[in-house]
Amino acid sequence: VAFEIVAETGSTNADLLARVATLTQPTLCWAQRQTAGRGRAGRPWLAADNGALTFSLAWKLRLPPQALSGLSLAVGVALARQLAARGVMVQLKWPNDLLRDGAKLAGILIETAADKNERGALWVVIGVGLNLAQGDALGAQLGRAVADIGQPQADREAWMAALLTGLCEMLPVFEREGFAPFAQEWNGFDAYAGCEVNILDRGEVLHHGRAAGVDETGRLLLDTEAGRIAIMAGDVSLRMA
Ligand code: ATP
Repeated sequence: VAFEIVAETGSTNADLLARVATLTQPTLCWAQRQTAGRGRAGRPWLAADNGALTFSLAWKLRLPPQALSGLSLAVGVALARQLAARGVMVQLKWPNDLLRDGAKLAGILIETAADKNERGALWVVIGVGLNLAQGDALGAQLGRAVADIGQPQADREAWMAALLTGLCEMLPVFEREGFAPFAQEWNGFDAYAGCEVNILDRGEVLHHGRAAGVDETGRLLLDTEAGRIAIMAGDVSLRMA
């Protein structure tokens, strides 16, 4: 993996996406300070000065776009494993957040671009923001931070290395076998299992039911009055009912 550290940038995802055509190997871009981080649907991702780990990893996958639907969940498992191994127990919220005590500890944003040099391949850019400490930019109500849980947040390099290791181990498995090998573990980390939830599309309630984990492709299973349905990630959002 080519490793790049930048002092400050708007968004590491945007930077890597703009350059994928020139990349020849997996590339990590780690921003010491990220000023315009993004979540899904253009929502902002804030980073406290000196209190955040913000990076993106560009990785080439020889997979069709439709095979990527479970990727953000597999990334969640890869990160949750590494955090748990270092004493930070987290839960996963479908499809792309890591929670601690119901609040966000980390967010994941995945963006893709076709590989112009190789038919059938595409670049995924996996952006991760992990709150190490709250800092000023981050209202305490927004999220949780590793430091709140009594874990040392000072060692940013160690956290970076751990999360990168997790991603580098997961991605080849995902490329070969998809989300299926991660589904059971994802369900073990599920923050909403058995909860009454709403599935929202731009603020409108699309579905209501009891969350029942994810299937082997990463779809959210929901037990509704009309029976069990499976929901693709797309742009819908999950909320407690
Ligand atoms: P969804 O459930 O659809 O993913 P979301 O509200 O979780 O919706 P995301 O795009 O995943 O949206 O993340 C962006 C949101 O995360 C922001 O709108 C803000 O509320 C919250 N947020 C931004 N920065 C942080 C942070 N550092 N820590 C915790 N939460 C944050």
